[in-house]
This record gives sequence, C-alpha cells and structure tokens, in this order.
Amino acid sequence: MAAVLSPAATPSEAKMTDGFHLVLDALKLNGITNIYGLPGIPITDLTRMAQAEGMRMISFRHEQNAGNAAAIAGFMTGKPGICLTVSAPGFLNGLTALANATTNCFPMILISGSSEREIVDLSQGDYEEMDQLAIAKPLCKAAFRVLHAEDIGVGIARAIRSAVSGRPGGVYLDLPAKLFAQTMDAAAGAASLIQVVDPAPRQIPAPDAVKRALDLLKGAKKPLILLGKGAAYAQADADIRALVEKTGIPYLPMSMAKGILPDTHELSASAARSYVLPEADVVLLVGARLNWLLSHGKGKTWGGKDHKDWGGQKFIQIDISPTEMDSNVRIDAPVVGDIGSCVAALLAGIGNNWGRPPAEWLNAVADKKNKNVAKMAETLAKDPKPMNFHSALNVVRDIVKANPDAMLVNEGANALDFTRSIVDMYKPRKRLDVGTWGVMGIGMGFAVAAAVESGQPVIAIEGDSAFGFSGMEVETICRYNLPVCIVIMNNNGVYRGTDKNPTGGADVAPTVFVKDSRYEKLIEAFGGTGVYATTPAELRKGMEEALKSRKPTLINAIIDETAGTESGRITSLNPAAVLKK
Ligand code: ADP
Ligand code: MG
Repeated sequence: MAAVLSPAATPSEAKMTDGFHLVLDALKLNGITNIYGLPGIPITDLTRMAQAEGMRMISFRHEQNAGNAAAIAGFMTGKPGICLTVSAPGFLNGLTALANATTNCFPMILISGSSEREIVDLSQGDYEEMDQLAIAKPLCKAAFRVLHAEDIGVGIARAIRSAVSGRPGGVYLDLPAKLFAQTMDAAAGAASLIQVVDPAPRQIPAPDAVKRALDLLKGAKKPLILLGKGAAYAQADADIRALVEKTGIPYLPMSMAKGILPDTHELSASAARSYVLPEADVVLLVGARLNWLLSHGKGKTWGGKDHKDWGGQKFIQIDISPTEMDSNVRIDAPVVGDIGSCVAALLAGIGNNWGRPPAEWLNAVADKKNKNVAKMAETLAKDPKPMNFHSALNVVRDIVKANPDAMLVNEGANALDFTRSIVDMYKPRKRLDVGTWGVMGIGMGFAVAAAVESGQPVIAIEGDSAFGFSGMEVETICRYNLPVCIVIMNNNGVYRGTDKNPTGGADVAPTVFVKDSRYEKLIEAFGGTGVYATTPAELRKGMEEALKSRKPTLINAIIDETAGTESGRITSLNPAAVLKK
C-alpha cells in the first residue's frame, strides 16, 4: 500500500497510510477499477492518486454526466458504478444522476467530498457548506458518512452492499475533507478494509410461489411474457431465452430489455404490441414494473373500457422486491427472488414437454406482426427529401445489424421513439436509453461509460434538444479518444422546428433552435471527425467510417423540421392534451 510520503520518509512514517489511500484500496479490493468524476476541492488529490494507483479515472466537464456514466456502468456490469464529486454544487450536480439511478434500479455510489462537519452543523458558512447527507437521503437507497479513517473499509462495504443487493439503486457516501488527510498505521489500515463476500446474494423463490405461477401459466389461452430491464440487468440471458423457447410464449421486451433475445426472434411480439397487450389473458412480468411505461397495467392499452378500467389479465410477476407486487393491479402469482433463480426454478418446473400455447393465439400474433412489419418496411423504403426520422433510422438499423456488438445509446422524444421501434437489437444490454423517467441528458455520460466498460464502439442516437444537455462531453470523448459515433437527428428544435411566436415578436418560439445549426463543428474543435449529412447515403458513409476508424465522430443528420410530433409517443401526457379532450 503506497502512503503519500516524501522521499526522505523515516521508517516509522513509511508504515503509515491515509484516508485517500484507504478509500482507493477499499474500492480496488472490491474489484472496482473505474471512477467517473470531476476534480476539485477536496477530492483533486484523490483523482490524481486514483490514477497513480492504476485505476481508470475518467474526468468529465459536468458532474451530472459523470453520474450518469457511473449509473450505466452499474447497469452494464452489475458492480456499483462510482461517481466522485466535490462538495455542495458538484454534489448537487451529481444528485440528479443518483436519483435517476435509484429510480431505474441501477447500482451506483456517489462519493462526494464535503466541508467541515463542525462548521456545517452550526451553519457558520464554510466553503461550499451544505448538509449533503441529509439532502441525499430521500433520493437514494442508502446514505452514509465516514468520519474516521479506520471506518473507511466499513463505509465502502456498506455502500457496495446497499447498491447491489436486493433491488439495486443509488447510494450516497459522504467523505468530509478532513478524513482524507487522517493517517493511521498501514497494517491496521489494511486490516480494516473489507472485501465484500457475496455482495448480491441470490434470493431463491419459494416452491409454492413457483408452483402457483406455473399453474396459472399452464392454463393460459393467450399467454404473454414481458421482459423488463431488470431481466437484462440480471444477466440470466440463456435461461430467459430457454424460458421463452421451451414454453413457446410470445414475448415483448421493454426498451432496455431489447436484445436479451434478438429482436428478430420469431416469438418477439414487439411489432404486435398494441394487439397482444389487450388480448393476453396471462402475463408473466420478468423484471418489469407496471408503471406509466406499461399504462399501470390497466386502461385502454390493456383492453379496459376507460383509463382506470382493468383489462381482465392475470399477472405473474418475477421481481426481487416483494413490495413491487400489487403496486398498480393485483398480482395473482408473485414470484419473489432474483431473476436468475426464479427463471431457473420455472424452467425446472416446465421440463421438456410443456406443450405450445394454442395455435389460434400464436397465429393471430404472427399475422398482426407480419402485417405491421410489412407496413414498416414500406415506410422505411421511402427516400423523402429532406430526410425524415424513418429514412435516417433505416440506415442506423442496417449499421446496428452489421455491428451487433456495438453499444447503442438513445435519447430524445421522436429520436427515441422511432429508434426504439425501428432499430433491432441482437445482443443483451446493448441498448441504453432514457429509462424510467424518460429523462433527457443521459446521452454523453452513457456513451462514455458504454465505451469504457465494454471496449466496443458506441452509437449514440440523439435528438438535437437531448444532445444539448450533455453536449460539452464531446471534449471528454475526444480527450479519451473513445470510439463513439454521435448521430444528431437535427430537426431544428424540441419536437419540431416549426413553431412560431404567436405575438410576431422578435424571439423565436420556446421550442425552436438556431436553424441549420452546425453541430458537427463542435467535435471538430476537439480534433474529432464532424460529418454534415443531408441524405441517407451520407449518413451511412459517415457511420461506416466512424465504426471502422473508431475515431470520435459527430454526424449532424439533417431531418425535415416538420417531421416530429409533440412529445413523441407521450403527447397524451401534456396537460393541454387533456384540456383539448
Ligand atoms: P422496465 O422499465 O424495463 O420495465 P423496470 O426498471 O420498470 O424495467 O423494472 C425493473 C424491475 O426489475 C424492478 O422492479 C427491479 O426490482 C427488478 N430487478 C432488478 N434486478 C433484479 C434481479 N436481479 N432480480 C429480480 N428482479 C430484479
Ligand atoms: Mg429536435
């Protein structure tokens, strides 16, 4: 263990360690090698020492993006992603990402330096004074503060366990400035660290719960499996695929579950979504919540008469969180446990001669699907001028098909909705997007972590508005020379570029940006490759070259400014849409 020592250190000093090194040693002891953050008081030296100790320290331009990077690293690897920030304002910038990670069940630890407790607690006005622990608490799974060097090992162990065990989520770890400079005997320091044994213990479902679920599934006439991002996170890909294939039940992937099975799988019902949801009689949820993204399990989407009416489906739900059950509608067969163990238990009960769902159901789903796929193929084959979302995404679809290992990051409104439905995914945990909140601003943070954690090329499909939230990180992407190809679907504004100021005043409408913005020049400023693409052919060439060269690239894809719809697919959530009804 390397203590901070002057070359002339005496033998007794040589046996000392300090808070800085205990933090880094505790992380390394637990297999954590990457830190996403932003240096400043009091953690600047911690970032330097992390690098000196052989960790990968990725420095960002804004903490929110570092936090998003840490969160998605957690989703991709199952280990907590680490975000490191300075006190008060830096901490607050990271907090949005921490809250988002908790909402999405991504394991991450936000570590922030903080000011002197004695001064903060008396409100005496310290440099960047803030009671960070109290503020973080309601926005994460757990929050801890370490005051003494000998407690660093316990603090990091508790943070890791809290982040990854049970339902994963965000954890806050408060490290006051004074802690880093505390010294202690090196051997005692090493002995105080904890290598966490079995941080995310398996949770085996009860046999009677498994039997109840199988009985319900067996009797179904129109069964459906719904895979959520919890299923992707669980890394139980082979068993989930076996569950679908052995039962022959059509399945729908939620957006970040796309690719657990290839989207081209014959049992994928994605192209028949609006048919299968109201028609299904028994739905097996695997790591998916019946939240707004699934219309709360009721209403017209599910065949109900009005938005509150239950469609009559029976639900089986696999989830690690027992209190998720009945959160929106009755869950007839809760299966509580980790997805790997639950799916394995179901498979054991299913055996090898389960039989197929009724042919009428399978044929009806296939019919609907084939019709919709044919309709989409027609739309994609069109070549309008200027490009629209479809003709541009037709190119992205081909490129992803040819590069199935590439990571795909996606945010925006229309850029999100169209990409989700048009671009097929072929492998698990490749699609990273706005998640449960539908939050804008994850783009460049996710892209950086996707490249760092996977070593694969990254394609980021961004709305022009969405890109703006994290756009300065193109410098970060260039600085670390990451193989990221950003495609901006540029339609001159939020949703569309056509809104007018109704007063005729000089200001443009609130949703409109500078016309024909040259976003590609942003990346050129930092040595990356900029491409201005007005046709599918130019877009294709730009993407192909980016993937081949692995050079940071930003493609400004010029989309018809009339092409988008208000809020994409969630227009109905705008309060004015309710007034119009
Ligand atoms: P989606 O938005 O894709 O539907 P959600 O984030 O709503 O996905 O749901 C994910 C669910 O998966 C959460 O309820 C979470 O508790 C659950 N989950 C996450 N990891 C596991 C796991 N390893 N085992 C079981 N359930 C899990
Ligand atoms: Mg736009």
